[in-house]
Amino acid sequence: MTEGRLFFTSEIFEGGRRRRQIARPQKTWIEPSRTLPVFAECDVLVVGGGPAGTAAATSAARLGADVILLERYNHLGGLSTGGLVFWIDRMTDWDGKPVIRGVAEEIFDRLPKEYVCGPARQDWGSRDAATAAYWSLRSAAFHGIVTWSPMVCPERLKLAALDMVEEAGARLVLHGWASVPIVEDGAVRGVVFESKEGRQAILAKATVDATGDGDIFHRAGVPSETDIEKNDIHHCMNTAWIWAGVDMKRWMDFRTSDPKGYSDFMATGREKVRHFERPFTSWRDDVALFMGPRQSGFDALNVDDLTEVEAYCRRLMWQHLEVFRAHAPGFAGAYPVQSAPQMGVRHTRRLVGVEKVVRTQWDDGTPYATEVGVSPSLSPKFRNVSVPYGALLPQVVDGLLAPGRHLSCDATSHSFMREIPQCWLTGHAAGAAAAIAAHRGVAPRAVDIGELQAALQKQGAYLRPSAAGTVKRAGASG
Ligand SMILES: Cc1cc2nc3c(=O)[nH]c(=O)nc-3n(C[C@H](O)[C@H](O)[C@H](O)COP(=O)(O)OP(=O)(O)OC[C@H]3O[C@@H](n4cnc5c(N)ncnc54)[C@H](O)[C@@H]3O)c2cc1C
Repeated sequence: MTEGRLFFTSEIFEGGRRRRQIARPQKTWIEPSRTLPVFAECDVLVVGGGPAGTAAATSAARLGADVILLERYNHLGGLSTGGLVFWIDRMTDWDGKPVIRGVAEEIFDRLPKEYVCGPARQDWGSRDAATAAYWSLRSAAFHGIVTWSPMVCPERLKLAALDMVEEAGARLVLHGWASVPIVEDGAVRGVVFESKEGRQAILAKATVDATGDGDIFHRAGVPSETDIEKNDIHHCMNTAWIWAGVDMKRWMDFRTSDPKGYSDFMATGREKVRHFERPFTSWRDDVALFMGPRQSGFDALNVDDLTEVEAYCRRLMWQHLEVFRAHAPGFAGAYPVQSAPQMGVRHTRRLVGVEKVVRTQWDDGTPYATEVGVSPSLSPKFRNVSVPYGALLPQVVDGLLAPGRHLSCDATSHSFMREIPQCWLTGHAAGAAAAIAAHRGVAPRAVDIGELQAALQKQGAYLRPSAAGTVKRAGASG
C-alpha cells in the first residue's frame, strides 16, 4: 500500500489454498425469463459507493442531475471505510502543491480535526529532515518529503460521505447489489439489482460503474485488461483489522531507538506467524492499523478465493495478537475492535478505454487536451500525471463511465491510479460528465471536453491551464 512508496519492494506472501474448494459440477440451469418491476428512473445511476462512486454522485447531483447511488453494503466509502484503508495517500505533489482537489478536498473540510492525523498545511512539501522523519513514521513523508497523506477515522469518513452525497441531493439506495446492466442498442440504460425486495430494475440516462471490479462494464460486454505488475503489490488481497488499547508512541520509539530489538521482534513474529506484518499508525495513538499480510496468487473475482483469503486473514489476526501482546512494546493491552467488513482487493479488471494512463507519461508529464484531473506521481523523479477523460470511457458500449480503481491504465500506473485520492478525482470527473451527458441528451463519449473541464473547475478541481478550456472530444483522441 501506499504502497506507492514501497513500489517494487513490499513484502508479498505467495498465497496457497488451504481449504477444500467447493466442487463445481459441469451442469447448467436455465433461468426462466421474467418481468421485473422498475424500482426507479433517473438521469444518472452510480453503482458502487466507494471513493469513486461518492464523488461521482456528488458532482452529478450538484450539476442538477437526478442521481441514484446504489451500494451493496450498509455504508459509503468502499475500501476507504469498509476495507479499513483509511490512509489517504496522497493529495499533494512532491512540491507540496495540492493537486487532487474538488470533491476530494471537500471531504476533509467535513472531517473534524480530531478524526484526522496528518501534517499541517505549511509543512506539505517540506524537506526539513526532522519534520520528514517525524511524518515518515506516520506514513506522511516519503523520499524525505512531507506529503498530505493523512490517516482518518473510517466511521467519521462514512458520515462525511453520507452527508456530502445526500446534501448534494442524490438519492441513496443501500443494501442493493447490482447484478446485470440493462443494455439496449449498444448503450447501457441502467441496471438490474438484487435486494431484500427481490430483483428490480433502475433505468438511467447515464450509468457510472464505480464497483471497483468493473462488474457493470464487464457484463455489458466491455473488454478489460487483467495483466499485473508481479513485483508490485497491486494484485494482492487481504483483510485489514484495527486494534485499540495500544501505545503507538511507545511502539514508534522502539522502532527508531532499538533497531536490533525491532529486527529480533520481526524475526520472532515471522517464526511464529509465517505471514507476519507490522502495524501502521492511525488517526489516534491508541489505535493501530494492520492492512493484513498481502496474499498473492488469488483471484478476487472467484468466490472460493475470496473465502480462502478471508478465512486465512481472520485467523492471522488472532495469531498476530498473541505475538504483539507478548513481545511488542506498546501492545501489552491491545485488543481487536474491528476486522474489515470489506475484503481488501486492489485489482481485478481494468477498463479498455478510449484513452489510458500509461507509464511513458510519467517522464513526459505533458497534460492531455482531455485532462480531467492531475495525479501526483509515484516518486519525485517523475512529473505529475495527467488523467484523460477517455480513461473513464469504454471503447465500446455507450451510456457508461468507469471511474475508480478499474479505470483504463496500464498495470504499472495502476499502482497509484487505484489509490483513494485518484478514485475521488476520477469519480468526480465521471459524475460531472454523466450529468452533462444526461442533460444534453448525448452519449458520455460525445460530451464536450471544454464544458466538462469548465464544470469540474467550477467544482474546485485542479486542471492545468493548457488543458482547461481546450475543446476536444475524448472519443476523437484515440
Ligand atoms: C489492502 C489495501 C491497501 C490499500 N492502501 C491504500 C492506501 O494506503 N492509500 C490509498 O489511497 N489507497 C489504498 N488502497 C487503494 C484504495 O483503497 C482503493 O483502490 C480505492 O478505495 C478504490 O476506490 P473505488 O471507489 O474505485 O472502489 P472501492 O473502494 O472498492 O468501492 C467500490 C464500492 O462499490 C460497491 N460495489 C461493488 N460491487 C457492487 C455491486 N455489484 N453492486 C453495488 N455495489 C457494489 C462496493 O461495496 C464498494 O462500496 C489500498 C487498497 C487495499 C485493498
